[in-house]
Amino acid sequence: MDYDQFFTRALEALKSERRYRVFADLERVVGDFPRAIRHTAAGAQPVILWCSNDYLGMGHHPDVVDAMANTARRMGAGAGGTRNISGNHHPIVELEQVLATNHGKQAALAMNSGYIANWAGISTIAKLLPDCLILSDAGNHNSMIEGVRAAGRERVIFRHNDLVHLEELLARAGRDRPKLIVFESVYSMDGDVGPLHGICDLAKRYQAMTYCDEVHAVGLYGSHGAGYAEEIGAMGRIDVIQGTLGKAYGAHGGYLAGSASLIDAVRSHAPGFIFSTAMPPGVAAAALASVRHLASSQDERRLHRLAVGRTKAALASRGLPMLANETHIVPVMVGDSALCKAASDRLLETHGIYIQPINYPTVARGTERLRITPTPFHDEALIAHLADALDEVWSHFGLDRAGTAAAAE
Ligand SMILES: *Cc1c(COP(=O)(O)O)cnc(C)c1O
Repeated sequence: MDYDQFFTRALEALKSERRYRVFADLERVVGDFPRAIRHTAAGAQPVILWCSNDYLGMGHHPDVVDAMANTARRMGAGAGGTRNISGNHHPIVELEQVLATNHGKQAALAMNSGYIANWAGISTIAKLLPDCLILSDAGNHNSMIEGVRAAGRERVIFRHNDLVHLEELLARAGRDRPKLIVFESVYSMDGDVGPLHGICDLAKRYQAMTYCDEVHAVGLYGSHGAGYAEEIGAMGRIDVIQGTLGKAYGAHGGYLAGSASLIDAVRSHAPGFIFSTAMPPGVAAAALASVRHLASSQDERRLHRLAVGRTKAALASRGLPMLANETHIVPVMVGDSALCKAASDRLLETHGIYIQPINYPTVARGTERLRITPTPFHDEALIAHLADALDEVWSHFGLDRAGTAAAAE
């Protein structure tokens, strides 16, 4: 049997749909962000990153890099095992304390990624609640969808951000049945935000638990960087807050924050936590340095917003079809997977700008886009360069401008 033919066929299917992904071979250089080096068969070339989720450049912050390097030198590279077997290394204990405090919760639990935090967190919480009904926003991230599936509980999907639909489903379930509402604060592809207060009002009325993914908001919003819920005064109303340490915090890992008993129950029951080696001490120390820094410093958030505002204004002045939103994510709509890939390729080859095309299944077909993420390090010259480059690419391919693209009203 030629097993490889099945893999080849699977790849051909992706290629024929123009969904096959090629990853750029990049080397980020401390001190030069968002400039990076791209390795190609023809040699190394400089590129400017415009799609990093290291939203604040914290991955290169001297305190964060020093914490990682110094801790590795003192405590070694790896954690040495699962926490069940090898115990907690000290930086992860400190990290969890700081995360809990930052979110105003009794406890926090670090996990090896935000993905695992969602998958293990949602499935474990729902399994521990007898006959739990999970109510999940239609726009939720794959890690939440997989967590909902793994719970093996009844689930219903409510239309994205639709409080009327959510209330209908809650009312049908009744007040007495355990219910878990799972949703995000900042949705990463459209950059829109969830109606957190509205969801919490309904949760209170129908006695449901609330679980919010703040992956694209922690570090970035709120006066302590605790997220969008902090920014709008909803943090105390949400039962479980999930976040990542790998995006705006610039390190790696994920976590849950909530009541002491909930966090202890997840720690004690979640296989995705129990059976996996802990994050390395250096990684925990780097995350800790970043969380601490962003809990007091407002500079990064202020400069980030400035760069986002400037980028949106520059792109709007060229008539580029942005999806309007109130956050830091700048989606520029293309609406076709082949053109989206071609636009991305041309930006890279002709203009030295790296923006990965966002195609199905990450977004719905027909809403393919370039997802641009300005950082505090994208200055006015870089923003002007981006606007010129996009303008040229849009003209070259005859792409729709603002007002002509259906998806961009
Ligand atoms: C990236 C992402 C995750 C996963 O977090 P990682 O730390 O990268 O594993 C979870 N939720 C959302 C919405 C994400 O975009």
